[in-house]
Amino acid sequence: MRIAFGGYEHETNNFSSTPVTAQVMDQIMRRGEDLARQHSGIRTMVGGVLDECAALGIDAVPTIYGEAGPCAATEQGAFEAFVEELVDRLWAAHCEAPLDAIALPIHGAGVAEGYPDMESAQLRAVRARFGPDIPIGMVLDLHGNITPEMMELSNISVGFQSYPHTDTYESGRLLIRLLHEQHTTGKRLHQALVQLPWHVVPAFGVTLSGPAHDVMAFNQQLVKNDPALRDVTFYHGFPYSDVSFAGASLTAVAETPEGAQRAARKAAEYAWSRRHDFLMPINSAEQAVDLALQAEYPVVINESSDNPGGGAPGDGTHLLREMLKRDIPGSVYGYIYDPEVVRQAVAAGVGQTIDCLLGAKTDSHHGQPVELKGAYIKTISDGKYLKKNPMGAGGIGSIGTSVLLQVGNVSIIVGSVRRQVLDDGPFRVVGIDWQDMRIIALKSAQHFKGWWTGRAKTIIACESPGIHSADLTAFTFRYANTEYFPLGDAQWGE
Ligand SMILES: [Zn+2]
Repeated sequence: MRIAFGGYEHETNNFSSTPVTAQVMDQIMRRGEDLARQHSGIRTMVGGVLDECAALGIDAVPTIYGEAGPCAATEQGAFEAFVEELVDRLWAAHCEAPLDAIALPIHGAGVAEGYPDMESAQLRAVRARFGPDIPIGMVLDLHGNITPEMMELSNISVGFQSYPHTDTYESGRLLIRLLHEQHTTGKRLHQALVQLPWHVVPAFGVTLSGPAHDVMAFNQQLVKNDPALRDVTFYHGFPYSDVSFAGASLTAVAETPEGAQRAARKAAEYAWSRRHDFLMPINSAEQAVDLALQAEYPVVINESSDNPGGGAPGDGTHLLREMLKRDIPGSVYGYIYDPEVVRQAVAAGVGQTIDCLLGAKTDSHHGQPVELKGAYIKTISDGKYLKKNPMGAGGIGSIGTSVLLQVGNVSIIVGSVRRQVLDDGPFRVVGIDWQDMRIIALKSAQHFKGWWTGRAKTIIACESPGIHSADLTAFTFRYANTEYFPLGDAQWGE
């Protein structure tokens, strides 16, 4: 069997002011063997695709693939150029030796200028060249806003079950297993979609416990109980994409169209019945620090509303300002994105002090810059580390050239590449052992829990104002349906 894979993965937050430009696309795209090498032995979707192909003796053909960090929509010309190259490379692979299937490990919440449903745009272009018969499989992110068109244009879709997405690798493997099953049995599998009038906010979507865990477990039980069922996925959707079809949905893959439809419907009924349980209390920066002082430490406070993993700038200052005000011994803020301050500190050198305005430079939604006087430069680093979080473990992470500033009792890590914090990498690069600290602040909604759970004694979420906030009433949506629960009281299924 011969499977070619490729695609462009992006989670788009249309409240961000940072688009994906042609220059960014150039930097992230990997082609051919270079693409395979980048993911070989790494726990990513593509790593899973490669390993399952190897295990089943499938000839895996890497074409072109890249993932841009979450931010605003992709520029139209850059996206169209990518799609053209993707289709050309897939077709070239097919002309070399016929392909039996195509695998697109992409996302589901991608928006490009002129293409609100970026996944369907990729599928449509591939279909236009290959026709309706070749099986096309997708791996999609749990935050995908899934559309009927994606279902029509593809043959099999599987999504991440867990948030934190610790099963990206396994999802890649599952897709290849299902494509292989179809090929060897000669029987096509079928998929179904049920969309719900519901915006699940990432801050309440963790699957380690609580309602999202229950929904995931319910779906896994459905698959276990029915030998004709291959997959059931609960997509939380991504409201910050601000597209008309943003919302939660359920998909199923089964041996018959009716079986898939029945399972997706059943799963949707259960998820919908739990929707009120997804509304949870939120803490301001002040409340989060108050709670941290009473908790067993080390305490991690995650500033979910400024999560770069959801398209936020990562330079918000609400929680940092509160920590500086409290000046609690053993506090570390890791990290804030500010390449300008990094450059200033590097120019001054280790052991020197600087005065600077730190953070809040990307937009006006994440506070005001913090004025620092006499910040002591303790460390300068290249910011590179080995990833430990199951999401991408074994790969190299980087927060870019980075510095550790000491201001009173607060250690502040400043980085020059925008990233979500997944493990202790950003702390290690500047020489901080987090186990020595009392309060550790970081920017992430849930993914950091894939590593920090069981290590930090306490985890407290902080919801300061920001473009990844759990408070959807704070947003002015242009396209997303504001009748959907919990913004409105849309009814479904009754
Ligand atoms: Zn996601």
